[in-house]
Amino acid sequence: MILLATYITLTRGTRLLLLNEYTYSKSGPIRAGGFRYSCSSVHKGCKAHVHVSRDDLILLAATEHNHEPTTYITLTRGTKLLLLNEYTYFKSGYVRAGGSRYSCSSVHKGCKAHLHISKEDVITLAVTEHCHPPSKYIRTKSGLYMKV
Ligand SMILES: [Zn+2]
Ligand SMILES: [Zn+2]
Repeated sequence: MILLATYITLTRGTRLLLLNEYTYSKSGPIRAGGFRYSCSSVHKGCKAHVHVSRDDLILLAATEHNHEPTTYITLTRGTKLLLLNEYTYFKSGYVRAGGSRYSCSSVHKGCKAHLHISKEDVITLAVTEHCHPPSKYIRTKSGLYMKV
């Protein structure tokens, strides 16, 4: 199976590789030519990584993560939030290219972090500089989430 790598670009210019809802950042060259990408949560001990050839073909994908991917959670009062790296975002509008804009749940505190999500649920832009620590949510028995 041939998989082509998909990339997203963060506002500070960092290019991340996106595969199955997980993001990876370039961590070095590989002997075969091309690059090794490590999971963005490598600092949390996640060992997932991907090898990408010079022509952007995925040569190897070790995708056992020790954490959840970008997911949507539903709060007990029915609000659907996007969860990325422990921060939550709510749908705040649409983007011209198609898809939705999600703003950090703490936008009222002046936080400017936001995401653009394509119609296919792929993160196309991620501004993830938050001015606050992430909120803690717990999963209730019903599968819904509550802020703690
Ligand atoms: Zn990971
Ligand atoms: Zn924020």
